[in-house]
Amino acid sequence: MTNIDLMGIAENFGKPVYVYDSEKIASQYKLLKSAFAGVTNLRINYATKALSNLSILKFMRNLGAGLDTVSIQEVQLGLAAGFDPQAIIYTPNGVSLNEIEEVAKMGVQINIDNLSLLEQFGTRHPTTPVCIRINPHVMAGGNSNISVGHIDSKFGISIHQIPHLLRIVENTAMKINGIHMHTGSDILDVDVFLHAAEILFDTAKNFKNLEFLDFGSGFKVPYFNNDIETNIEELGEKLSARFTEFCANYGSELQLIFEPGKFLVSQAGHFITQVNVVKQTTSTIFAQVDSGFNHLIRPMLYGSHHHIENLSNPNGKERFYSVVGYICETDTFASNRKIAEITEGNLLVFRNCGAYCFSMSSNYNSRYRPAEVLWYKGKGHLIRKRETFDDILQNQVEIEF
Ligand SMILES: *Cc1c(COP(=O)(O)O)cnc(C)c1O
Repeated sequence: MTNIDLMGIAENFGKPVYVYDSEKIASQYKLLKSAFAGVTNLRINYATKALSNLSILKFMRNLGAGLDTVSIQEVQLGLAAGFDPQAIIYTPNGVSLNEIEEVAKMGVQINIDNLSLLEQFGTRHPTTPVCIRINPHVMAGGNSNISVGHIDSKFGISIHQIPHLLRIVENTAMKINGIHMHTGSDILDVDVFLHAAEILFDTAKNFKNLEFLDFGSGFKVPYFNNDIETNIEELGEKLSARFTEFCANYGSELQLIFEPGKFLVSQAGHFITQVNVVKQTTSTIFAQVDSGFNHLIRPMLYGSHHHIENLSNPNGKERFYSVVGYICETDTFASNRKIAEITEGNLLVFRNCGAYCFSMSSNYNSRYRPAEVLWYKGKGHLIRKRETFDDILQNQVEIEF
């Protein structure tokens, strides 16, 4: 998919618009598969929350992926996309027992991350196999907002609580069929990840009837030139060998599961906006686009870097810009960013907008969520219509005064 293709999509489907390149998703999927080719029984469960459009989910199903879900609604989306319930794992955090029971009824694999609900669920449904999410207390990456394995994290059952966990399992006679961890969003150091994996292996030895080990995700993709990324080949080689060795000692061929979101869809996504105003101030030049944190909140929420290019003037002289939105709130996408000279009406594209972009969008300022387009077999296909004023009114109830 080229920049010319992107311009064509903006022309056909309007702006702002999210565009996803299906070929990039497929090639990332293949890359992960081949890195772990040494594992006999590998499963890749796509993390729905990264980008939950039905057509994306169907595309994932065609690739052979399963699904990782965190809410009953994501499970329902997965089922609507044609996934077999057994191909879905449900890893909620802080949800009600009632919701977990509803999902279990659908035949979906349950993953529980606290002792309170484990005991309650096990008491009521001892024959339903359950996976447990442990917290190995390994700090992956430096940003505590996106590292979920460390000591103060709200996610997972602490490995220090394994004795208590084992007592619950024994008392309820419940079945544990998997062990799960998800250490955070950035694997910057393969050895740190392998260290966490060893803790998972140690935990797994306590259970006799496991079917799978789920290592979560945390694959880091580059967001700009020379940005660090997870060395997939190295991780694949080292973990595959260690996993195979573990299975031999354990005495059965377990399934190895990963649940990547960002790795599969981040780089496939391109967000196209149009510049409404170029505003020179005493300190900078603002380029104001027809969007804001209502459409793309990651830069404001946790400082993520999205590369920005001027599609309309790609060879223009580079200048420094502050790219901001049209929301009545500070909504800075990028400060002091070098971009080919911008004039009003130009199209700017934000890169790496496949993961956690549209799925975090809102109607703030009563603006519409943008359209989504999937680039498939050399053509753009509309996979979500731009909202209209009816969507803004939809659930509002007017009362009489
Ligand atoms: C969000 C999430 C993922 C995906 O994380 P990425 O960094 O997008 O790959 C995987 N597993 C669980 C349990 C998650 O909550």
